[in-house]
Amino acid sequence: MKVDFFRHNITASDRKALDRVLRGLFITTGGEVRRFEERFAKYLKAPYVVGVTSATAGLHLALEALNIGRGDEVITTPMTFIATANAILHAGATPKFVDVEPDTGNIDHRLIETAITKKTRAILPVHLYGQLCDMRAISKIARKYKLKVVEDAAHAVEARRDGVCVGQLSDAAAFSFYATKNLTSGEGGAVSVHTKKLKTILSQSRTHGLTKDAAGKYRKKYQHYDMKFCGWKYNMSNIQAALLVPQIKRIEKNLRIRKKVWGIYLKELKGVENLDFPKIVPGSRSALHLFTAWVPPRHRDKILWRLEEKGIGVSANFRPVHYTTYYKKNFNLKKGMFPNAERIGDSVITLPLYPTLKEREIKYVCKSLKEILKTL
Ligand SMILES: *Cc1c(COP(=O)(O)O)cnc(C)c1O
Repeated sequence: MKVDFFRHNITASDRKALDRVLRGLFITTGGEVRRFEERFAKYLKAPYVVGVTSATAGLHLALEALNIGRGDEVITTPMTFIATANAILHAGATPKFVDVEPDTGNIDHRLIETAITKKTRAILPVHLYGQLCDMRAISKIARKYKLKVVEDAAHAVEARRDGVCVGQLSDAAAFSFYATKNLTSGEGGAVSVHTKKLKTILSQSRTHGLTKDAAGKYRKKYQHYDMKFCGWKYNMSNIQAALLVPQIKRIEKNLRIRKKVWGIYLKELKGVENLDFPKIVPGSRSALHLFTAWVPPRHRDKILWRLEEKGIGVSANFRPVHYTTYYKKNFNLKKGMFPNAERIGDSVITLPLYPTLKEREIKYVCKSLKEILKTL
């Protein structure tokens, strides 16, 4: 049997929506992007959304729009995809890492205050695997020290916790529509914000800082653009938006299906020796983006390879940021500095999780994993 790590669920009607846009005049940023922004904002219960080309771009633009740059420090987690920390570098700022909670892998808000210096300007929490960080606690610290908060919500479109929605208690939240995310256009991203002012800055900074995009110039009479600040080239296209708009309607349904898959995994793998799982805390509705398990670190890679030999697609989310040569070298980081992130990074395996996964495929993955664990 072959069980892919991920299969997207772009449907015939999504392809039809794409075809309609391709037959139209505007394939770059235009009406379809605006439709996506409105509908996604409505789903998120956010006042404004701006469509961009990736979550990385969204994080970068959000930090810049909040005037965070050279000389500033941003507190974040080492237990994330490298994009989170790189976006801070793109903005010209310096990432300051603090360790994560041992049971969830989310940034430990009790450690944030210890990392605050005179240069600290923002906190950048990551909602690992789809579970919201303790945003009430984080926003309280931010208010106390007058810091901005930008959420890496790449995993967390559907997440809520203690009555708080993703994006609700921060200045901006960045979402990803990369190939393996819950919603996807192959590549793509969005930022949700609360003020018209930030929305306008982001809408301009995603296209060089120009005051008009292509569709804006193409009104009855030709309109000249101006540039008041230097932006980037991160604008979402109508092609990406065409694929995303119809998926918004299926978000809740797909979450329910992933929840079923999650339940089967937990049931099949319950009580298995040498196996543990990150915790979902009470009061939290996880977006259930990645299903991960923890195995003995000395056997982890062997387990990944044996699963692959059995035709199962796997991953390891994540390799802690401070394990990479660049961060070690340039930010004076060493193994041993963030023990919880390291324990997770050394023991984590990620199993397939997506709505089109069949029950027999999930059971095959579980049976294979149990066999492998028994022969260690
Ligand atoms: C996927 C991912 C990103 C980057 O998303 P892109 O859209 O590819 O830029 C950022 N952070 C996390 C936690 C991710 O998993």
